[in-house]
Amino acid sequence: MLVKILDSQLANMIAAGEVVERPSSAAKELCENSIDAGATSITVELSGGGIRELTVIDNGCGMHPDDLETAFLRHATSKISTPEDLTSILTLGFRGEALASIAAVSRVTMTSRMQGADGKQIVVEGGKVLSVESVGCPIGTRISVKNLFYNTPARMKFLKKDYTESGYVEEVLRKLSLAHPEISFRFVSDGKEKLFTPGDGNLKNAVYAIYGKEVSSACVPLHYDENGVKINGLVGNITLYRKNRALQSFFVNNRCIVSRTLTAALEEGFKGMIPIGCFPVAVLKVGVDPSAVDVNVHPAKLEVKFANENSIYSAVYWAVKNALMQKLSPVIDAEPEPLEPKKTVSVKTPSANGFGGSISTVAETSGKTAEASAYMPTQNDLEALKKQKKPEPSTALRQSILEEFSGKTPQTFSETLPKQTEELPQNSQQSGTKKKIGDIEYIQTAAFTDGESYRIIGQLFNTYILIEEGDSLVLIDQHAAHERIIYERLVKEKKEKKILPQMLLVPEIVSLTPTELAVVTEHKAFFESLGWELDEFGKDDIAIRGVPYVITKEQARDTLVEIIGNLQTGKQASETAKEDRILYTIACRSAVKGHDKLTLPEMESLVKSVRESEKTLTCPHGRPVSTTVTKTFIEKLFKRL
Ligand code: ADP
Ligand code: MG
Repeated sequence: MLVKILDSQLANMIAAGEVVERPSSAAKELCENSIDAGATSITVELSGGGIRELTVIDNGCGMHPDDLETAFLRHATSKISTPEDLTSILTLGFRGEALASIAAVSRVTMTSRMQGADGKQIVVEGGKVLSVESVGCPIGTRISVKNLFYNTPARMKFLKKDYTESGYVEEVLRKLSLAHPEISFRFVSDGKEKLFTPGDGNLKNAVYAIYGKEVSSACVPLHYDENGVKINGLVGNITLYRKNRALQSFFVNNRCIVSRTLTAALEEGFKGMIPIGCFPVAVLKVGVDPSAVDVNVHPAKLEVKFANENSIYSAVYWAVKNALMQKLSPVIDAEPEPLEPKKTVSVKTPSANGFGGSISTVAETSGKTAEASAYMPTQNDLEALKKQKKPEPSTALRQSILEEFSGKTPQTFSETLPKQTEELPQNSQQSGTKKKIGDIEYIQTAAFTDGESYRIIGQLFNTYILIEEGDSLVLIDQHAAHERIIYERLVKEKKEKKILPQMLLVPEIVSLTPTELAVVTEHKAFFESLGWELDEFGKDDIAIRGVPYVITKEQARDTLVEIIGNLQTGKQASETAKEDRILYTIACRSAVKGHDKLTLPEMESLVKSVRESEKTLTCPHGRPVSTTVTKTFIEKLFKRL
């Protein structure tokens, strides 16, 4: 075999696979070029999910007429020329391969003009320059990319439906808008305006334009500076949290990135302030010396490495803590004094009273839902928080985040699910299984033999229902039992196609990210089969008009978001497995919880259902529903036998 140097067209096509994976990656590269060109206004227009056409228009500096052709050569860049430039690079693109790569797999028309020069237009298709001519045009650049991947069918095959691709592009533009509140972004897909940011330099206004009023008004600013690490941005206050991490964005030197360190530090800062299984909302910007961060570890420049992970972790943690505490302590002065940040430099020995300021009461009570305010930290929490002395990551949390990210599919479930329902020991319910804990012998069983009478003794620890039945004491875990009953009922009704919707008098409006919205669109029929009545509402909101009848209006939003998460993470799972998980989610959400006080009629109704149900040995998560303690055992305890 002969070793050949790849011809440039082929090399560009290979590079295209790395740089341009789908329309959203092309959009990102082109917008970054516009940003580097100093644009204050960038418009992105798509048709057919950006596969048919993707256009980016900017009002940046434009290009010299002689440069249009050169820009399409691989490694053509105006941004670096010496190796030293690499370490201090602040512009976004610098590999000089975006234009070459995109043009290798599409038909690109670029029109550009710089001040004092003529406008020029170039057409490049499949890497070949078709024409270059002078044209009249405004200052700035307009690039239109048509028929993306027309000559790489393998890549084409991996693309999703148009609305999904459009959703990805919108996510990219959201991140860019958050990184650059000083630039006005407009995104139009198939003639519909999906995003428009004011570009007034105010991050909160960008957040408002992207996520809406509810989110922007519940955000508090972050400002922190420690050992040359600058933290800025916004975090949701403790009443604003989500079932997944979709509303977390991280930027390092204004580049949107993913980083386990930043995620862990943010969440550690919120620990104890928001419910377990919920995630804070954040736009977190880290500014560091460019030489202390390696942004080039991934071709798409997503994952970064910090030279000093610990100091970054500590800075983010304290930035978040200070911002939250500042919000919690009542501020009487018109101009609030910023709370004194952690004084000591070493990560290991922070000042014990690192928060400064007096914390006497919870001030943040502004019109939030009852559910949200239920998680307000109490005086005790605040005291505890004040005493807390640990800027170091909780290894447990960090570990869990590491595991989550290293797995192929991030897990958003708060409970682990059995892989298959078959794993549940359904056949042992008749006889019951003898078990021993120490020398305590008990029978774990479905507990009831038909026809026998029983008496409800009451509720124990607000969690277990105690029943006297013949020669046994039966304990039922109220949550596990209820969940199992609802689950079985849903499974049956789903099969018979009659999960009834419960229509809401006033629809619940929930804002979703573009990818979440695409999941809803894609699974519309599935949602309907579960009793959900969902309508598009505005550009990125969904109106929940009906919910599966077991769900309350209050549970509607969170359950929907959780189900969408299930659908996103369970992509590879079989349809039935996916459906099962979702039925679990609904059952779990709607079931009574442990620590919910039940009235006697409620207990009676639950116990009756347990007795009638065939498969109530374990909850869908595999925990036992009921346990029986025999009279003999109790008598042994008291040495009567
Ligand atoms: P890189 O951005 O890595 O330099 P690209 O292939 O993306 O490589 O772009 C090549 C060059 O084309 C850039 O260095 C820049 O000089 C010029 N260029 C590309 N897009 C624009 C734009 N929108 N406005 C001005 N110049 C641009
Ligand atoms: Mg570029």
